Amino acid sequence: MIISMRPHASKEEIEHVCERIREFGYKVHSIQGEERVVIGAVGVGDVTPCLESLEATPGVESAVRISAPYKFVSREFKKERTVIPVNGVEVGGSEFAIMAGPCSVEGEKQIMETAQAVAAAGARILRGGAFKPRTSPYDFQGLELEGLKLLARARQATGLAIVTEVMSEQDVEVVAEHADIMQVGARNMQNFMLLKALGKCSRPILLKRGMSSTIMELLMSAEYITAHGNPNIMLCERGIRTFEPAMRNTCDIAAVPLLNELTHLPVILDPSHATGKRSLVPALARAAVAVGADGLLMEVHPCPEKAFSDGAQSLTLDQFRALTRDLRPYLELWKAARLALATPV
Ligand code: PEP
Ligand code: MN
Repeated sequence: MIISMRPHASKEEIEHVCERIREFGYKVHSIQGEERVVIGAVGVGDVTPCLESLEATPGVESAVRISAPYKFVSREFKKERTVIPVNGVEVGGSEFAIMAGPCSVEGEKQIMETAQAVAAAGARILRGGAFKPRTSPYDFQGLELEGLKLLARARQATGLAIVTEVMSEQDVEVVAEHADIMQVGARNMQNFMLLKALGKCSRPILLKRGMSSTIMELLMSAEYITAHGNPNIMLCERGIRTFEPAMRNTCDIAAVPLLNELTHLPVILDPSHATGKRSLVPALARAAVAVGADGLLMEVHPCPEKAFSDGAQSLTLDQFRALTRDLRPYLELWKAARLALATPV
């Protein structure tokens, strides 16, 4: 349910509404909108008696049912887009967020060189895996704590914010100590214990879509995180498995505008994992801008042929510079469209 309070509802009236919701056995989650308080309530069972009672409660303007099974992340619950501040970048706001860096942190020279180059080319957020989910147990598993320390050093040297993957519940604390954004990988999208632990974490989350997950499942995973206390979630489309073997994954580009209809959360596109092929990354990056994504997550490596992981889809530093340069006119249009969205007609 969403309960919209009248614009000048008193604190007592708001508190009374919250109490009534709890009396009916539902959980309260309240947010302050632009000019009025909107209260969200969730729980099981038929909400009709509660809705009817609330409609007759002082200070309430309207009480409506949220039809989607995901509640707090739905557009029905919150019309305004969620803007997530990360080290001076407002993801979901009026700046397109470019996140770039290697698949894996491999050593000091590699991460520093990449960080300097992507920062100079216009990225605001540095990516790099310290804990790596690999198909084979014999492949490079990541530098773990050492990788996190290197990322923190790269942040200090460049001012870039850090996004890095957290693979397990036990690592949430140590990753949160070093990262600005906690990445949940495709393989962990439905690791519900991890999602619950991230709900209690104060860092923003980048939640990647599972390779065989539906949009509904992605939104339900985001709902887990927010229901456990953390509303700062970016969703990431990174391609899904289909019958098509010509690319590593099939990019579900329409997922971006669809998510923009269904949720208020920022949506990021990862064209690197979506294709597995570096030659396709620039075109897909332009597509992401055109369909209204809030940012890009891209793999970049100083020498892709020597990369410990995902070399084939990693751009060289020169290719990344060319990509951001070629993206500029598209970003101008994106910005104009975003400002028009923010200005009511
Ligand atoms: C990654 O970002 O390097 C990664 C492992 O991505 P995904 O979880 O989307 O496969
Ligand atoms: Mn990768």
